[in-house]
Amino acid sequence: MTTTASQLFERLKNVDVGNPLCAYTEERCERLAPLIEEIQELKKEHHAIILAHTYVHPDIIYGVADHVGDSYGLAKIAKATDAKTIVFPAVRFMAETAKILNPEKQVIDPNPNGGCSLAASIDGETVLELRKQYPEHVFVCYINTTADVKAACDVCITSSNVYKIIENIPSDKIFFLPDRLMGENLKNRMKSRGVEKEILVYPGTCYVHEQIEPEMVDFMKQQHRDAIVLAHPECKPEVVAKADVVGSTTDMYQYVKENREVKRPFLLLTECGVSSRLAVDVPEAKLIGGCMMCKYMRSNSLAAIRQALAAPRKGQIVEIEQQMQAKALRCIEQMFYYAEKTHAASS
Ligand code: SF4
Repeated sequence: MTTTASQLFERLKNVDVGNPLCAYTEERCERLAPLIEEIQELKKEHHAIILAHTYVHPDIIYGVADHVGDSYGLAKIAKATDAKTIVFPAVRFMAETAKILNPEKQVIDPNPNGGCSLAASIDGETVLELRKQYPEHVFVCYINTTADVKAACDVCITSSNVYKIIENIPSDKIFFLPDRLMGENLKNRMKSRGVEKEILVYPGTCYVHEQIEPEMVDFMKQQHRDAIVLAHPECKPEVVAKADVVGSTTDMYQYVKENREVKRPFLLLTECGVSSRLAVDVPEAKLIGGCMMCKYMRSNSLAAIRQALAAPRKGQIVEIEQQMQAKALRCIEQMFYYAEKTHAASS
């Protein structure tokens, strides 16, 4: 499908989340349109799909992505696709997850040095040491972990299914890693639902969500008394306690979309990619709040995607040692098992 510069500008002109780097001018769209064309051709040539996380630049999302979403949604798509090549502009652990689910396919990470403060906070060896200390605990890892960590854990979760999965695991001893803040929120949620489990938590954090302070929420609410506050579970518990809605990026996006008629402003406490998507897809929604940008996700670019699709460099082709892949796959499959079991029970 051809995307002209004016079509691109029409789509992206509403992206304005308070940071000039996020704004799209006609000139910028003119520079990007030829790149988008090239990438679309390369996708056909290589029978490739592009999976983009909500936090990457809107020109990737609206210019070349075949699917956009959060970790859970994109993992499900990666599992089901029949494309030969998966290009995953996000951060390394997400591309690794696609490879774990598709060991026969080529998975390309255009931004192999992108990093993630949360995923970098723990490695597989540390998990194995912890398992010796806590042999009775079920080890549950957030999907924001590297392949060696998943291989050392029992069950994986994402922000969209964490509460359901923890409830469904038939053990009252859980070791949750690596996100301390999500772990604290998890403990609070289980307590409020009357679920009695011992939950030990590892002290990693996401540097983006950790920056959001409860005082910022109070300040914004003073300015906009009728605001509906939506928070990601990677935020501090004191922030989550002030939210009307707590959920993954997809949950937040859907909530605003479904409540677009509500004449109240929405305060989104997460990376500003969610606001950018909503500015494009639901322009009538009134969004407030500052921009919290993830430097790792934002280090993806159309130029890197084009280069990686045309001639991937060694580090851009995701490789995972076979035994590690098999163990990590079991951990992720347990997530699908408990998530679907919960869904079947609740539907
Ligand atoms: S927002 Fe960035 S640092 Fe935080 S978990 Fe996601 S990728 Fe990692």
